[in-house]
Amino acid sequence: AAKEAGKNRYKCYDGKGQAEASELMELRNYLRKALSRGELELYYQPQIQAGSAQLVGMEALLRWNHPKLGPVSPQQFIPLAEETGLIVEIGEWVLRVACAQNKEWQEAGFPELRIAVNLSARQFASGDLAASVRSALEASGLEPRYLELEITENMAMKNENLPTLELLRDMGITLSIDDFGTQHSSLGYLKSLPISRIKIDRSFVSGIGKDERDEAIIHAMMLVARRLKLSVVAEGVETEAQYRFLAEHECDDIQGFLFYRPQPAELIRKVLLEHWKS
Ligand code: C2E
Ligand code: MG
Ligand code: MG
Ligand code: MG
Repeated sequence: AAKEAGKNRYKCYDGKGQAEASELMELRNYLRKALSRGELELYYQPQIQAGSAQLVGMEALLRWNHPKLGPVSPQQFIPLAEETGLIVEIGEWVLRVACAQNKEWQEAGFPELRIAVNLSARQFASGDLAASVRSALEASGLEPRYLELEITENMAMKNENLPTLELLRDMGITLSIDDFGTQHSSLGYLKSLPISRIKIDRSFVSGIGKDERDEAIIHAMMLVARRLKLSVVAEGVETEAQYRFLAEHECDDIQGFLFYRPQPAELIRKVLLEHWKS
């Protein structure tokens, strides 16, 4: 009955808008408890070297399994975590778990891989990012060269972030630009920033074989990257044709459903076993 009354109440206002706002508020409150209730989990998506198909890395991708709502998409909850500031605490957890997991795989005897962790703007602004990265590395015993941090162009372009980025680079960590080509930025920053890798966004990859303009953009990105000695990984590779185009254009690494979907650690262990058995 209370629910019915609630529904009617929303109708009095701008129906949909109000209901959505209250759903968001509920989600935000659930999210506050997600970490302590153990509802967050990292999935890992393998990256392979184009050409050799050798595994070279993993991207850690956050998942939230809400007991009643089920899985909530990162596209939905990451913005909420950012807006509430919870992303700082969650981001520290992600760093700790990802570093520890990578170290565990190494100790199990698998060849060394790099693990890539996504960062949020808020992690630069509040708290000491370099200190939390250092503490995740120290706690796990993972060498910094096996950690990659993914930032967006907007984060890279912020002057205030430069000292932290340089500190991270000097520690031996790989810095990469995620979703490359989708935000407001100039190419000039690639020459002055401590970046060593770019990730071509899925929106360009999906145009391969369909839209010559996307192919032209990828081609140009590859040329710039090669001349600046940046390595390139393409994300969202779903088809054989996309893979072939990228390999022909000397893209270094490939990440996408064509090879692997993001998977929980137990399943990744099987991927690793399968990949290196012989
Ligand atoms: P992203 O960092 O650009 O991650 C790549 C996204 O593309 C992932 O979505 C991945 O599952 C998806 N993907 C990979 N291959 C394919 C493919 O072949 N086809 C398609 N259609 N999709 C593919 P996901 O896991 O939903 O994550 C979405 C975004 O959420 C990420 O985009 C990232 O921006 C953010 N995110 C995820 N985990 C974290 C985290 O731990 N911290 C922060 N700050 N952000 C995160
Ligand atoms: Mg990413
Ligand atoms: Mg991306
Ligand atoms: Mg993306």
